[in-house]
Amino acid sequence: FIDPSVIDGDKFDLQEIESEKKTSKSASEILQDERKTLPIYPYRDELLQAVENHQVLVIIGETGSGKTTQVPQYLHEAGYTKRGKVGCTQPRRVAAMSVAARVSQEMGVKIGREVGYSIRFEDCTSEKTVVEYMTDGMLLRNIISEPNLTSYSVIMVDEAHERTMSTDILLGLLKDLIKYRSDLKVLISSATLDAEKLSNYFDFAPIFKIPGRRYPVEVHYTIVPESEYIDAAIVTVLQIHVTQAPGDILVFLTGQEEIETTKEILNHRIRGLGGKIPELIICPIYANLPTELQTKIFEPTSEEVRKVVLATNIAETSLTIDGIKYVVDPGFVKVKSYNPSTGMESLLISPISRASANQRAGRSGRTGPGKCFRLYTLDSYQKEMDDNTVPEIQRTNLANVVLILKSLGIDDLVNFDFIDPPAAESLIKALELLFALGALNKFGELTKVGRRMAEFPLDPMLSKMIVASDKYRCSDEIITIAAMLSVGNSIFYRPKEKQVHADNARMNFHSGNVGDHIALLRVYNSWRECDYSKQWCYDNYVQVRSMKRARNIRDQLERLLKRVEIEIASNVNDLNAIKKAITSGFFPHSARLQKDGSYLTVKHPQTARIHPSSGLAQVLPRPRWVVYNELVLTTKGYMRQVTELKPEWLVEIAPHYYQLKDVEDPASKKIPQVSRNSKC
Ligand code: ADP
Ligand code: MG
Repeated sequence: FIDPSVIDGDKFDLQEIESEKKTSKSASEILQDERKTLPIYPYRDELLQAVENHQVLVIIGETGSGKTTQVPQYLHEAGYTKRGKVGCTQPRRVAAMSVAARVSQEMGVKIGREVGYSIRFEDCTSEKTVVEYMTDGMLLRNIISEPNLTSYSVIMVDEAHERTMSTDILLGLLKDLIKYRSDLKVLISSATLDAEKLSNYFDFAPIFKIPGRRYPVEVHYTIVPESEYIDAAIVTVLQIHVTQAPGDILVFLTGQEEIETTKEILNHRIRGLGGKIPELIICPIYANLPTELQTKIFEPTSEEVRKVVLATNIAETSLTIDGIKYVVDPGFVKVKSYNPSTGMESLLISPISRASANQRAGRSGRTGPGKCFRLYTLDSYQKEMDDNTVPEIQRTNLANVVLILKSLGIDDLVNFDFIDPPAAESLIKALELLFALGALNKFGELTKVGRRMAEFPLDPMLSKMIVASDKYRCSDEIITIAAMLSVGNSIFYRPKEKQVHADNARMNFHSGNVGDHIALLRVYNSWRECDYSKQWCYDNYVQVRSMKRARNIRDQLERLLKRVEIEIASNVNDLNAIKKAITSGFFPHSARLQKDGSYLTVKHPQTARIHPSSGLAQVLPRPRWVVYNELVLTTKGYMRQVTELKPEWLVEIAPHYYQLKDVEDPASKKIPQVSRNSKC
């Protein structure tokens, strides 16, 4: 006989499968329906008509209206991709990847085929690709090999309001290019109403406005300034979670470390509360987050479960997460800042602009009325914040861009048609740095070293380090170091319950106090010796994913070495040779020990300490001279990725930049021995 429950069960399963089929079939229908609900949809035909009639069009519309995901699809549907690709630039890597993933879903194709993305060190496109999302920096580099952008029929410069340096330069280059390519369409899209400027720049190109939908947002301020904004953010999230109606929360933080710390503390506090509060799903999003986790932020939650998204500025305009009802805004952002009078570049956690604050608040009112909790006072919003963020070109080191422009044959930088020109001083500083690095000769012309450097999609100091490794016969080691540095600060991990083990494992690579660069090299080489094993990574508290990325970047750098005809040479036992190659690129980042244990950068005095994550942070006696990879300014200046150097190397390697007096020891008046005849 047949057990009735089994029959029932079977039936039930069948029904499940049927309904699953139905939902999966309708999933693509749902996506198509969703496309039609976006604010941009009613304007589809009008927009296509405007593109047809004008070579350049400025498109403005609020974040989430569908500019990024829809416009390239409309163009594809209208046949533009028959003549060439539709390229759409994004200021951020994550946005390019995530939007490409979404659009390939909407078009029902596999990512990397018809719809792809290309970002630095990662090309996810194919022969078939017709809609290509990419970073603005990537398109800028592509112009070096394809000056007329012949493979594109349309370029959409998206998120132009962000005014990144690459976007600004692209706009300048495109403005020139359209004179020669009357068939190329240029669309410039922006989330802010400040489109006049973009339009004027392109000889009064028409502006296409997409009316937005926005629900009211209730804005709350703190009464007194918050000194510990992370703590304040955590408390606010918990308060919202416990007291407010359903709806997801979006918290703006400044970077990966801050996000990970906040996540840990939040988890800890929630666990501490036991089962007393409902579930809260924590989703981080930042540039280095693995792709699988990135998509998690878009997964809708059920009614009962609340989601809190901990995001960097990426969620301000580049990514739209549906379902957000509450925004927690501490009011800070990490920006690259540059002091043109000293040539010092640093990462600085600084207050946002009022425009940013308003964008952030707006994220809570997309699908219904929202609330924004500002962790600053009304007074500082009104009186202390700037109206707008300063364009990157006016607050950054221009060396990279100048090198790219020079290799495009654009020599007259002073007369380049910038939308907002950089300070003359910054241009001069960039030229000076490139001269000191040996990329330019004294007439400002690109040298052979400079041409080689321009092949690498890296900061000029890193490229110089690679090019110089030829001389020290250690290119094998140096591209490994460059790849590891490019991965960012996510090589090691430190689980809470195993911190001591993790720290010991990490310090193993530092034995002999070799410095962070060599330690990174050792990590990579040990992993390579163990056949790139995952187990090795687990045993050493090293992130598998970061290592794979480093390997991938390293492979690409190796190919580029061949292109610039530098032989792969290994010199792993001569640490001084490796350090000299590092110093050849990073000599502008040198610092000298002070009596109080802090450091003073040599050329342009700035006090800094060795970042606690460095292998040299605890070493006593402290190294007297160091080079660092980057300087992060919070309340204090911290140097990250630090290696000891001999001061005489500075004069030996960069005689144009350092004189003996710079490296004299003021205490003993001892002058280091220098061989003055060896130049880099
Ligand atoms: P805009 O560029 O005007 O800000 P978008 O085209 O980015 O607008 O967004 C339109 C819609 O697509 C939004 O509702 C957003 O939630 C959705 N969307 C965008 N990217 C993704 C993604 N990766 N996953 C899920 N939904 C997405
Ligand atoms: Mg967009």
